[in-house]
Amino acid sequence: MPEFHALVPAAGFGSRMGHELPKQYMPLAGLPMIAHALGTLCANPDISTVFVVLAPDDTLFHSYDWSRFGEKLQPLYCGGQTRAESVSNGLLASELEPDDWVLVHDAARPCLTQAHLNWLIAELRDDEVGGILAVPVADTLKRSDDENRILRTESREQLWQAQTPQMFRAGLLSQALQICRNVTDEASAVEALGLRPKLVLSTPANFKVTYPQDMLLAELLLKQKSN
Ligand code: C5P
Repeated sequence: MPEFHALVPAAGFGSRMGHELPKQYMPLAGLPMIAHALGTLCANPDISTVFVVLAPDDTLFHSYDWSRFGEKLQPLYCGGQTRAESVSNGLLASELEPDDWVLVHDAARPCLTQAHLNWLIAELRDDEVGGILAVPVADTLKRSDDENRILRTESREQLWQAQTPQMFRAGLLSQALQICRNVTDEASAVEALGLRPKLVLSTPANFKVTYPQDMLLAELLLKQKSN
């Protein structure tokens, strides 16, 4: 039976946060940000291992106590120059079986819940291709010119915002990322092979912390989750 594993690329810096600590280590609700997603992934009974891909020169990860996650949490010091390279290097280092499922999740999405994971796994475990969590676009979309004046209104019909986890077979994903290195998510690499990953309905709460003002919203959602 194929197993399920998680892989969390955490080798970026997160320059848009304007903070001296890399984004994944910024304090959030009493913990480094990355600890929230790692805790949710490690607590899921379907997931066997949670790999964290760190920059080769990361000195911060080991300064925290991860013992509560036991052997399930496996740091890999093989991050690359881009997110795609970090994922690709992590897949090689993890030595997973080609048929194993891997759920790639951003360290910067701390509000992931067990419900999100269960929807994704239930919907995709028998799928040929795999897929991603995503939410339909809610706002009206405007195309601008160089001076931020509206050129036109774009249709939002059948448009989705991609989230993570993104769940694919380890062999397929590794092959896709070898061929297609210039992508911002795993699904784009799989799409470039001519395949059509499935969109699994998520919620806006699983957003990516990108700007300083996102921290407050994440903190509120995490407090609500623990109540
Ligand atoms: O910067 P951004 O928010 O798009 O990063 C998404 C995820 O990819 C983060 O968890 C970040 O640490 C990771 N990443 C990485 N290696 C890089 C760049 C980003 O693992 N070179």
